[in-house]
Amino acid sequence: MCSYTLKPGSVTIRKLKWTVYLKSYAITFSAVGIAFSIQYFLVLDQKIKLHFLIAPFFVALVLGTFLAYFNNIRTRLKESNEQFRAVVDIAEEFIYYRNLDGIYQYASPSCEKLTGYPPSTFYQIPNFMNDIIHAQDREFWMGHIHSINDKRDTETLDVRIVTKSGEIKWMKHICATVSDENGQQIGVRASNVDITQQKDHDNQIFNMAFYDPLTNLPNRRLFEKNLESMIAKAKETNDVFAIMFLDLDRFKNINDSFGHKLGDKVLIEVTQLVINHCRDNCLVSRFGGDEFVLICSEIENSEQAIKFATNIIKSIEQPMYIDDVSIYISASVGVAFYPDDGADMSILVRNADTAMYKSKKDVSNKVLFYNTEFGDEASHFLSTEHSIHKALDAQEFIPYYQPKIDMSSGKIIGAEALARWVTYEQGIIMPDKFIGVAEETSQIVDIGKQITERVLTDINLWKSIGCEIPVSINVSVRQFANSSYFSELIALLKSQNINPAMLEIEITEQVFLGDLVMAKHRLNEFRSAGFKIALDDFGTGYSSMSYLQELPIDILKIDKSFIDNLAHDKKSLAIMKAISSLSRDLHYEMIAEGVENEEQKNILLGLDCIDAQGYHFYKPMPQDEFTELLKKQNKSA
Ligand code: C2E
Ligand code: CA
Ligand code: CA
Repeated sequence: MCSYTLKPGSVTIRKLKWTVYLKSYAITFSAVGIAFSIQYFLVLDQKIKLHFLIAPFFVALVLGTFLAYFNNIRTRLKESNEQFRAVVDIAEEFIYYRNLDGIYQYASPSCEKLTGYPPSTFYQIPNFMNDIIHAQDREFWMGHIHSINDKRDTETLDVRIVTKSGEIKWMKHICATVSDENGQQIGVRASNVDITQQKDHDNQIFNMAFYDPLTNLPNRRLFEKNLESMIAKAKETNDVFAIMFLDLDRFKNINDSFGHKLGDKVLIEVTQLVINHCRDNCLVSRFGGDEFVLICSEIENSEQAIKFATNIIKSIEQPMYIDDVSIYISASVGVAFYPDDGADMSILVRNADTAMYKSKKDVSNKVLFYNTEFGDEASHFLSTEHSIHKALDAQEFIPYYQPKIDMSSGKIIGAEALARWVTYEQGIIMPDKFIGVAEETSQIVDIGKQITERVLTDINLWKSIGCEIPVSINVSVRQFANSSYFSELIALLKSQNINPAMLEIEITEQVFLGDLVMAKHRLNEFRSAGFKIALDDFGTGYSSMSYLQELPIDILKIDKSFIDNLAHDKKSLAIMKAISSLSRDLHYEMIAEGVENEEQKNILLGLDCIDAQGYHFYKPMPQDEFTELLKKQNKSA
């Protein structure tokens, strides 16, 4: 006899096949034996003949076999039922099975943990799930119930429930229909998992990605999304609308004279003033610093724009009293109209920005409209493309290295390679001046190759002096989407005899926004070849945890914008805490970008974020300087 005991839980499953046979034969032989004996005693005068003995023996044997067979089936059914319960009873998720009338045939004990209601409530009240679905999700839920009751399929949905104590929880509901042997649907089985924490993280990350923590206004990313959909709509309806860039004049002086805290209060006050002037059809965003951008769908001509912008400027020019200080401030506004000043988002925004820039320099006009004479951006683009072309031939792109630090020991644990364009005439050109154009023209693929080749040579150099160190490279969407990128990188590594573990691939969320399946496949290719993958600028996109979990990512690089606000903004601190616990739970490594002071370092260490990059430790530096640094570290070790 063998038995299994599943722990925790109290279910014991025994396999009793031969004992079942023994018992069944014992019963039938006894029964037949008794019947035979009665017959023998009742008919005493009869002589016992052999067939009197043989017939009952066979009858008992046949009956015993049948009985054993049915007992065995019963035992097995019981056994499989117990096995089923042993598994589902201890499952974390709430599992149930109900028939098509909504009567629950099984509700696992964990329903109490999720909903606060015990299984008995489910057994007593048909369709009880419908009663606890959150009012705002009920219509959606009932639609799902109708469709699952009607078809043989699987459905997954995220819905809110209201628990017995009144708490609102998010759960992932996965259900499938159950059919009988004729294919007739007879019920529905479902599993329900508590995803409240994950949803909270998603929300926090959404807010952090799309809202400015100081003013709660939409940030640049949300502005771009809104503008994109405005343009799409206006294309169909032939609408005209205005974009306004509003920038405070000499705001830096306020920060310098009265400190950042007061500067922040001024920005909050200005936000309120701007919002007060905006009607429903005006969207206000903050691009950072003292720059506000408005999309005004009801402003169609320059008279309306002048009136509206002048009113805002006048209210900003009224003295403000903050913390017993009188603040005098003014603002400049640049305006561009869709579609006349740009039918495309980036051109429209750039032109409104240019108009604002010009209005700042113009003493007589506080509001300026975009004018084509302001500058020909297109010719600038073309000349950059041409220069990059020549620079690639002259091998003018090189990597600078920014050390990555283990903040608990101060040790250099790696480096990020950052592209620099070294020119004879203009000195070193920073990436923000050429990466954008290079991405649009696909020249980034060749620049990336040039940088990577140098990085690999440098890794070998450091190896030869006993300072082997992993380096991360930035891979843009263009490179990543290129089908030969992976094989070319592998070939490069082979030619330099370098292990992929020495190279980290930094990608941004842009990579997943197109073809998620392709991106996942590519990432898996990199992963299985031994590369580590870091998600750059984490927190600046909509990093939904549910889809991040699906992707093979090793490291989250927390964006500098968070680290900037860490010391002064409670929201950023709370979000950073959430990211830190999340990274721990989901086994991501974490690295903070842009650490600029000791205060930020200490907060991060307190949150268990040990690795960092930033000017507080080192700025990006040329190869020879970094080599010296590594040598020094090696000597002191
Ligand atoms: P990134 O990948 O987010 O790189 C971090 C940027 O932050 C670097 O700017 C770095 O110099 C800067 N940084 C690091 N610590 C601090 C700090 O404490 N304070 C401040 N204010 N800044 C800090 P950099 O070198 O100008 O690069 C800008 C961006 O250009 C990079 O952002 C990356 O997206 C792109 N880039 C640079 N090199 C390459 C490359 O080889 N290929 C591709 N595709 N993109 C590159
Ligand atoms: Ca990076
Ligand atoms: Ca970054």
